[in-house]
Parts: sequence; structure tokens; C-alpha cells
Amino acid sequence: MRWWARNALRCRDEPSNNFCLKQDKEGTNNDVVGLVVENVSGLRVDRSELEGVGCERVQQLGRGCCGQVACRFDVRQNRRNLQQIHRLMAFKASQFLFHGSGVPPASKCLSHQALQLNCFIQKVDSGLYSLLPLGQLVIDRINRLIEDEFSRIGALKISVPILGPKKLWDETERWDAMGKELFQLSDRGKSHFCLQPTAEEMVTSLVRNLPSLRVASLPLLLYQTTEKFRDERNPRFGLIRGRQFLMNDMYSFDVDVDSCQKTYSLVTSAYRRIFKDALQLEIRTVVSDPGVHGGAISHEYHLENNLEEDKISYCSRCEIGHKPGETDPQCSHSELQEMSSIEIAHTFQLGTRYAQAFKAFVPGTQRPLEMACYGIGVSRLLPACVDALSIDVKAIRLPNKIVPFDAAIITASKLSSDPTALSLCEELQSALQARNMTVLLHDMHKMSVGDRLYDLNRIGIPRIFVLANVTKRSFSTETELSAVGKSGEVRLDMVTITSGTDRDHRDRDRTEKNGTIGSSNAERHKSNGLELRVLTLNMWCLPQPWPVGSKDRKHRLKRLAEALLIEEYDIVGLQEIWKEGDYLDLVDQLKDVYKFHHYFHSGWTGSGVCILSRHPIVSTLTHRFILFFSSSVPNVQIKMYVFRYSLNGFAHHVHRGDWFGGKV
Ligand SMILES: [Zn+2]
Repeated sequence: MRWWARNALRCRDEPSNNFCLKQDKEGTNNDVVGLVVENVSGLRVDRSELEGVGCERVQQLGRGCCGQVACRFDVRQNRRNLQQIHRLMAFKASQFLFHGSGVPPASKCLSHQALQLNCFIQKVDSGLYSLLPLGQLVIDRINRLIEDEFSRIGALKISVPILGPKKLWDETERWDAMGKELFQLSDRGKSHFCLQPTAEEMVTSLVRNLPSLRVASLPLLLYQTTEKFRDERNPRFGLIRGRQFLMNDMYSFDVDVDSCQKTYSLVTSAYRRIFKDALQLEIRTVVSDPGVHGGAISHEYHLENNLEEDKISYCSRCEIGHKPGETDPQCSHSELQEMSSIEIAHTFQLGTRYAQAFKAFVPGTQRPLEMACYGIGVSRLLPACVDALSIDVKAIRLPNKIVPFDAAIITASKLSSDPTALSLCEELQSALQARNMTVLLHDMHKMSVGDRLYDLNRIGIPRIFVLANVTKRSFSTETELSAVGKSGEVRLDMVTITSGTDRDHRDRDRTEKNGTIGSSNAERHKSNGLELRVLTLNMWCLPQPWPVGSKDRKHRLKRLAEALLIEEYDIVGLQEIWKEGDYLDLVDQLKDVYKFHHYFHSGWTGSGVCILSRHPIVSTLTHRFILFFSSSVPNVQIKMYVFRYSLNGFAHHVHRGDWFGGKV
């Protein structure tokens, strides 16, 4: 078997991960394993360590777009070797400087407080922030996600200088139009420059000077991810409105208007894939005024946010928003949502303004190229996600694709040199890494398990595995805790940290009582007037006659139907309706109020579960359980199943019946 990567520097399947191991099925040599490691800052693997665990011919291939290093090395195919290599590739908490607290700023902005308190960023001066290692990891993942999506649509990465000569900006008369927000400076020879906030001038002039531009090269999509500058009058909210910020800016050049419009929708659909599919954010597209950029058509991409940086009215039927005071002549819907929001990206169809000024013509003609430009505020996306998903400054939540680490492992101090725990830890780590997850080992054994869990919860690690004799139970109020196995004295627990939005309902009372900053988010949910009445009831309706079956079944079903007609719940979930006929009777009696319903058929006996709803049922799902991790450490039998439930019962527990009914 041979391990290899299709592309030495990029893992196409999971671009947001920090390293990958790839198997090439066409490989024939059974003795040799080749590995490609994508390495990032904080992951310390050096040649001698790799050679120390049996790797041969270690060879560095090159540097990737975000600073990762690809190495190739061969190793005798041996499970033990692979585990040792995986161990070298784990991040260690002791290196990541997130323990203790940063200085929380006096700010009404949750992300500003949370990112500074939990050591993602550090303040230098007003509107100027340094990224600490944790913040940098997240920004690197955002960049890789965006850049991978862009390489799929054929965009090419470039870098142009940040220092912009005045004479270039004078060509489009934007030096004066930008006003005081443009950072200006001059060199010792009194030539004037600006710290560029955007790069239309520079990229258009670059394209004009390309000796090799042909019609066949069009549309040409060029992008960069660089620092931008703006002389903000009032920098605020940490990374949200700074004087220096990281931006991904793309510029497209087309042969005519039609082709430019096609390119515009190609890029904006890549934006949608990044924001909606990969990051799962509720992005609102807003029609906007092109401003000093010029051009005719322009869209902004907003996230709901209570900082009141922007206000929009949004029609969820048309899926388009407008700035307050503006209306859409094509939208006749009355129920527009007014919301406070923050802009995280902006796209413009620029026309020929820049191409005309710089004489950037369609090759072989005197016709200026059609241009569009596109920008994502990368360093603003981080706090915007934190604001959207978190409800507590001591618990940062981010979309799963951009968390600093996918998983973490804690081994209790007492077990730090226990051989069973050590090999279990190694095997678990290997299993996670083989699934392209980055793993953080919380190796600070002087801290208690509870303190380390608290540490990892603060920085939002979605999966935490605990190897201990007993896991501190108190933590489970904040999270889902499930036991996944036990061997003698060693117990393996999995803690799944849920995102703020999932927890809004559950935590609403708590945050309001405590008066923490998170309550603003919860209030927003309440003010939307979204109240849902849900009833769940185990009906105990075994159809056989008493005493084998359930007592007074028909009578109780009748009384239930009467009550449901008066109470009018939104959703009713019933269990132990074992006979489908009983379900159909209920549906018939309630059909005027509960128009939508579903009966779950699963397992050997049927699930006995049904749902009645006043609202349309979009989809239903019967959970199946997949074997995620199975231990082969000598004398240890641990299997781990992943899904909402850790166990589906056992066949010999006939009296419980879970195994026969399945889970819904
Ligand atoms: Zn509408």
C-alpha cells in the first residue's frame, strides 16, 4: 500500500485542515508508505523526530499558500509507526498560550471582549490588533477555505504592493475622492504614497502591462489576501472596525458586459458556497450603492449583529435586502424583516471606468475590458462569526470548519504515565487524524480535568475526549457528555460542545438572570416573537389486551385527541403509539388543526414514534449509528459510536427494547 497526495501542497478534499494523509489506490509497493504533511505554525515536527520513529528519506517539498510546509517521507508500513507519526503531529496546549486571561476591554461588543479575553488577539493601539497563535490558526483556516473555493472557479492568486503611488491613484481621480480615510505618506524624496484600502488601480495597471494577455485568457480572475488600511475616524469593536485589516480582494476582467455578468454570478455563487455551505452562516445579500468604486451593480453580504453598524430591511421570500429607506420595485411582500447587521463582503460590477483610465484593452482591440471586483473582510469574518454563534464571553463558538482545533484530548493527571491510557490516547488521536481532524493534546497535567475542560470550552473546541477514572460531572450542564467506554479504571468520555445558537433557548433564562453580555443575543430571539409550543408524551399504547398490553388505551387516546384540539400545540411528539391504526385514528380526529404528520417506521418492531404538526414538516430522519472508533489495545474493549446518542441499547436488554425499536 502506498500513501500519497494528488497534489503535493494542497489537500483538495479538506482544504481547511492543517495536514493530510492521502492514500493512492494505484500504489503497488507493499512495503513503503509515503506521507504528505501540511504543517502550520505551532506544529513542531522536525526531521530528526520523524527519523526517530522510523521515517526514511524525509524530504521537504515546498511551502504552501498559507505557510504550511509539505514533507514527503517513506516509512515501513507498520501500525505502530503510523501512530507515532500521528503523535508527533498533534498540537500541544502547553505551546498555545491561551491559559489565563487576556485583558478584557470595556466594550459592548461580545466578540471584542471574548477574542481579547481568551487570547485570540491582543491590542496594540486604537484600531490596531495583533493576532495571537489561536487567532492566527482561525484566520489561516478561513483563508484556505476561501482560496480553495477560488481555485475551483479558476481564479489566480497574486500579490501587489500595499504602498500605492499617488500618480496611480490620480489616474482615476480617486486620490482626492477617497478623502481623509486614505492613509497618506511621503518618502524622503517627497513622492506621495497611500497605504492602499483597495487595489483596482494597481491590478488594472498590472493587467494592462501583461505581455501575454490573450482573448483566450479571458475571463481573467486575479485575487490576493493582503493587509488593507483605512484612517478610521472612530476605530471600534476590536477586529470589526480597525485601521488595518486583512482582506481577500478579487478583480475580474472580461471581454464584454454579458461575459462580465456571467463571471459576476460565478464569483458570487462561490461566495455563497463559502458563507452558507461551508461556514453555515445566515448571510443576507443586500443591494447597495457602489459609492466611490463607481459602476452600476453592487451587492453587500451582511450577517445579523446587534452592534448597529448597519441597518437593513430584508425580504426572506425574495432573498434580498435593502438599506433602510430604499425599496425594491419588484418586491410586493409586506413582511420585511428590519435588522441590525454587519457587512462582511462586498461585490461590484465596475464597467469600464478603470480599464478606460489605464488603457487596459481587450487584446487586439481598442475596447476597454469589463471589470468587476469582489472583497471579503477576512479579519472581520472572525469576530462576526463569534458574535453570531456565541452567547458568552467565556465560551467562543465558531463554525466547525474554522475552529482552531477539531478535537482535543485530556488525560487525567493520575493517568499521565499509565500505559493503558497512553496507548488509548495514541490510538484515539490516530483515529481522529486519519479523519483529517486536527487534534490538540491538553498536556498540562498540573491542571485538573475540570479546569482543562473549562479551558477548551472557552476557545470552542467542538469535540473533547477525556481519559480519566471519573469525569467531573459538573461540566455536563454546559455541554453534552457521553460515556463511550470503560476499561478497568480508565474511562473514555466524549464532550460535545454545542454552538451558541443551539443553546440560545436552553440558556436564555440563565443568561438573563446573570445579566451577562450574552443576553443581548437571547433578547433578539425573543423579540422576534418566535414562540413554539411543543408537547412530547409517552402514550404507553401496546395494542394487546391488558395485562400484556396497555391499560385503558382507547380511552386515553380519545382524551388526548380532545385535549390537543383545545390546546393547539405547534408540534406534538408521541412515543409508544405501537399500532399504526391508532396513529391513523389520531390523524383523522385532529386533521383540522394538525395538518402535517409523520409516523416513523424503524427497527424490528417499529419505533412507536409519531409527530403531529401545525407547520409543514421539511424533513425527517431516523438516526443510524456508525462505528467511529474501535480499540485494539490489548485487553481493552472499547468501541465508540458517533451521533446524537452514544448507545442504541443491546439485543439482550429485551425489557428496554431500544435495540429492537431503533432511535428516531
Ligand atoms: Zn419580496
